[in-house]
Amino acid sequence: MFMEFLNSIKLWQYDNLGKYKINADYLKFYVRDECYREIMVSYSQMMPLLEHTVPIEEADYILYMHMYARCYEFSDFVARQLKSIAARRKEGAEIIVLGKAANAEKELNGSISNITFWGDHFAEKLGKKFGVDIKEQYFVYDKEEKHLAIWPVNGCLNKCKFCRRCFMDIRFESLSLEGIKTNLDRIKLNNPEQMRTISLRAENITEYGIDIYGRQMLHELIYLIDSYEEVKEIKLPIGLCIAEITPEILEALCYSKKITQLAMNLETGSDRLLKLIGKKHTTEEARNIFNKIHMLNPNVVISTTIMLGLPTENMGDILDTAELILDTKPDNILCNYFICSPKLPLAKYPQISESCREYHLKALFNYLKKRRTHKFKFVSHSIDKKPISRKRMEELKQLGEKNKMYMRRGINPIHFSTDYLFM
Ligand code: SF4
Repeated sequence: MFMEFLNSIKLWQYDNLGKYKINADYLKFYVRDECYREIMVSYSQMMPLLEHTVPIEEADYILYMHMYARCYEFSDFVARQLKSIAARRKEGAEIIVLGKAANAEKELNGSISNITFWGDHFAEKLGKKFGVDIKEQYFVYDKEEKHLAIWPVNGCLNKCKFCRRCFMDIRFESLSLEGIKTNLDRIKLNNPEQMRTISLRAENITEYGIDIYGRQMLHELIYLIDSYEEVKEIKLPIGLCIAEITPEILEALCYSKKITQLAMNLETGSDRLLKLIGKKHTTEEARNIFNKIHMLNPNVVISTTIMLGLPTENMGDILDTAELILDTKPDNILCNYFICSPKLPLAKYPQISESCREYHLKALFNYLKKRRTHKFKFVSHSIDKKPISRKRMEELKQLGEKNKMYMRRGINPIHFSTDYLFM
C-alpha cells in the first residue's frame, strides 16, 4: 500500500524535479504504521524538497518523522533514534523533527544541540525555510481509496486516560466553514468527479469548530457537504467521540442519507470502567445514539473498537461489554488490548495479567457467538504488533534498491534506512 502510494505521488509531484534544491537532506520515515494524516496533509507536499537526499553523514539538514504514539508509546525509541542520528551527523548539520515526533523534545530535555522541533504546519515552515512554495493541504484526493479526504480539525481537547493525548501535544485547530466551502467550490469547478466520496477525518471530529465558533459545528459541516449534488457518499471512519455527540450532531448523522460509514468507539460496556478510563459517555447514552442512527439511517455501517485488558477488568465487565455489543449492534468490531505505558494515568491501577486478558477475549467472543442475534460483518482482533512480515521486509528491501538506483541516476532518491526501522 505504501509503495503504491509513493508511486502514485511520484506521477504528479516529480514533474517539478530540478526546481528546488536543498544542498543535502535526509528523511527518516517510519513506514511500518504510517500516519495517514501526516502523509497526505504534509509529507506528500514536501516531495519537491526531497529531490537530493544523501546519507546522514553528508547531510546539511536531517528531516526526521515518525508516526510516534499513533497506537503505541514510542517516545523512548524516537529519542534513541535522534541521539543516534545526532552522533552520526556531520558537524553543523541541523536536525529538523517534524510532526508528532516533535513531542520527543520533552524526552530529550535539551541533550541534542542544533535541533528544531516543528509539530504542526511543518510543510509550510520547511517551505519558508528553504524558499519553496509548499504548505499543508487539507483536501487531498486519494487515488487508491478513491475518496476526497478532508481534515477539518486537528487535535482533541479530551484526555482519556488510556490515550496518548495525556502526554502528547497536538495543536487544536479547525478550518472555518467558509474556508471549507471555498475549497469544495473550487474542487467542484475543477474536478467534480473527485467529490463523489468524501472521507471526513480527524482525531476528534465531534469537536470541530469549537476554537472558531465557541461551540461544536460538526452538524453544520455535514449539512454543508451533504448539500453538494456531486457528493454521493460521506464517510466518517474515525474520530466521533460518543460523549460529544450533541443532539444537533445526532440529528445531522441521522439526516444525511449520504453518510455510509461511521466509527464510534464503545471501548467497554461497563460504566465503572468507562469512568475509570475517562470516557465521558455512559452505556445508556451509547445505546440511545447507536439505536437512533440504526433506526433513522439504516444503511450506515457503524464500526467500533472494544478495549480489553483494562486495569481491574473482571468477568462481569466482559459480560456487560458483550451485552452492550448485542444491544448497539455495530457492524464492525475491532478488539484491542490495552497497552499500559508509564505515562498513562491508568498506570497507577493494578494491571491484569496477559493470560487473564486473553481469557477475557475468548470469553467475549464465546458469549457473542452463543448469543448472536445480530450478524456482525467483521470481528477482528488486533493484539500486540506482530513481527514485520517477510513480504513487507521484501518490499522494504526493494524500495531501498530502487532508491539506490534513483541515486545513481541522480533523480529523487528518497533515502530509506532500514537499519533504523528495527532498533
Ligand atoms: S476522545 Fe479520542 S483522541 Fe481524544 S483523548 Fe479520548 S481517545 Fe484520545
